Amino acid sequence: MGKILKFAPTIIKNLFSKPVTVNYPAEPYNYPERSRGHIEIDIDNCIGCGMCTRACPPGALKVNKNAGTWTIDRFDCIACGFCVEKCPKKCLFMVPGYQEPMPGKSEVEYKKSEEQMAKEAEQKRLQAERAAAAKKAAAAKAAAAKAAAEKAAAEKAASEADSKGQPSAAKPEAEKAEEK
Ligand code: SF4
Ligand code: SF4
Repeated sequence: MGKILKFAPTIIKNLFSKPVTVNYPAEPYNYPERSRGHIEIDIDNCIGCGMCTRACPPGALKVNKNAGTWTIDRFDCIACGFCVEKCPKKCLFMVPGYQEPMPGKSEVEYKKSEEQMAKEAEQKRLQAERAAAAKKAAAAKAAAAKAAAEKAAAEKAASEADSKGQPSAAKPEAEKAEEK
């Protein structure tokens, strides 16, 4: 009798509370926020660095930067979340909810949109243009510095020859440099 009285509050509470189980799949199951369901990617933000592939213990990931693709073998993935931690662009997510059943062991490929590929190609072209312009400017600067140094050397040689009262062999060089 004493034991029944001890458990009576729990029994009464359970009689008037909802069951902890869910009538799945008739009712949707709300996964806890931090549950390790499956990996998803915001592919347009991926830079193809490959950090996720290097972090993946079972080697479930492949990245092709030029083709703009990211591929996962969901049957190899152990949902460890290392790829999510390592991604520098934070474009990988561990999503609550398990992967839908699939008819066979196959990889799932994600590909960047055409717009994103065109945008990245344009960015590459602009970068190449800027690099070429910077290289050209540096070459022009170096050539100007060399010409200035040659002119200064020629002027110095001419003034030394003048101070000695001798005709200078370097004088024509100085004049040439001035003409430039
Ligand atoms: S969660 Fe783990 S096993 Fe799955 S793809 Fe990412 S790193 Fe690989
Ligand atoms: S780590 Fe992130 S940005 Fe780098 S390849 Fe993987 S998904 Fe793309």
